[in-house]
Amino acid sequence: MSQAHVIGGGLAGLAAALSLTQAGRQVTVYEAGPALGGRCRSYYDRGLECRIDNGNHLLLSGNVAAMAYLEQIGATATMGGPGVSMFPFVDLAGGERWVIRPSPGRVPLWLMQRSRRVPGAGLGEYLSLLSLGRVSDDASVADVLDDGRALYRRLLEPLAVAALNTPPSAALARLLRPVVEETLMKGGAACVPMFPRQGLSESMIDPAVTWLAARGASVQAGRRIAQMVIADERIVALEGPDGPIAVGAQDVVVMAVPSWVASALLPGLVVPEEYQAILNVHFKVPAHGDGAVRQAGFLGVIGGTAEWIFLKPGVVSVTVSAANRLIDESAEVLADRVWQDVTQALNLTRPMPPVRVVKERRATFAATAEQEERRPGPRTDLRNLALAGDWTATGLPATIEGAIRSGRAAASVFGA
Ligand SMILES: Cc1cc2nc3c(=O)[nH]c(=O)nc-3n(C[C@H](O)[C@H](O)[C@H](O)COP(=O)(O)OP(=O)(O)OC[C@H]3O[C@@H](n4cnc5c(N)ncnc54)[C@H](O)[C@@H]3O)c2cc1C
Repeated sequence: MSQAHVIGGGLAGLAAALSLTQAGRQVTVYEAGPALGGRCRSYYDRGLECRIDNGNHLLLSGNVAAMAYLEQIGATATMGGPGVSMFPFVDLAGGERWVIRPSPGRVPLWLMQRSRRVPGAGLGEYLSLLSLGRVSDDASVADVLDDGRALYRRLLEPLAVAALNTPPSAALARLLRPVVEETLMKGGAACVPMFPRQGLSESMIDPAVTWLAARGASVQAGRRIAQMVIADERIVALEGPDGPIAVGAQDVVVMAVPSWVASALLPGLVVPEEYQAILNVHFKVPAHGDGAVRQAGFLGVIGGTAEWIFLKPGVVSVTVSAANRLIDESAEVLADRVWQDVTQALNLTRPMPPVRVVKERRATFAATAEQEERRPGPRTDLRNLALAGDWTATGLPATIEGAIRSGRAAASVFGA
């Protein structure tokens, strides 16, 4: 049986491995790290004495590839969330609170009900979303949507920053378009927020590894591929930690590593080279929130350093995206600043509990016009090599949905 070698065990590599295995290939996944999952993983934190995720990850029910992936690995039931489309927010400036509740169908009936909309935003403001459908190639999110009004500040800006992980003045509007079209524009049924009940690894990674192993695939952690040997326009060997791994004449290779590793393994490959950080601050404190926050399990924050607060069992986890501006601040300063927002947002009165600040410096490529130009498709000039990763040309920003689609696209290069 011809083999498929998948380099990189993040979501893109795992999605490729699922498709290749399903298509009847004998698959081996080589992952450099001690565990699978890459930028989407859980681990035991010794300081906090509990398991945490590297960062909070939110999916929406309209993320069709992610939903199909969860279904395939039998992990749909491991995902939690409110079960309906709802997004609670607080504006720290005036303390105002509201819950956006899109109605299920495509017709946006919810816009007719003031209580389900963004306070202070007129109905006409929602029409600005339609302008995303006709953006020029290099228009930024701010160019297209920032009219200085409430809808932008209280919904569209936080949505764009979370999805594109890039400041709106530089973020490419045409990368936001498919996100909005596949979720908000489809109505509430496509906007149900979801996140793992337990942890990212328990939902998105471990079940995939189990699925692959049950079908004869070999998934190997701690196996960094240092080099790819090329001859006659194909990969003929991979340099593993224990020496060369032969790549047979009928074998195929999917390279699903981060962009900076990809360009080192395949010299001459043009890839995105600017990144944006994501900051996650995990506080070890039980908090359940009230009303809508308790039901949703998270809260959007306007006007603070904190952007999204997630209530996990025993831990409050805060996400700050497009965080290059903050990344060189000390962990103490960041924790202090974010804790102030948390106490105000959740009405807590207590000193700061044990905290872990996780800085993912290269969380995603910067979703700018320049970087978009540098995203390659899955096909390469080498006959048996395909590329995957959230940084490849998926038409989406760097997200779980994009990573999974990229893995499927790479597998399809070889008929899977
Ligand atoms: C903090 C944070 C929060 C996020 N929040 C969200 C969110 O809310 N919603 C969302 O949709 N997305 C979110 N994302 C983005 C999402 O996590 C990524 O898009 C996705 O995980 C990328 O998967 P990938 O497989 O493309 O890359 P990676 O996860 O980077 O996988 C690449 C793998 O290759 C391995 N590797 C590297 N070099 C080698 C080598 N030489 N040999 C073998 N293996 C190698 C790496 O160890 C890694 O496991 C977030 C990301 C971060 C960092």
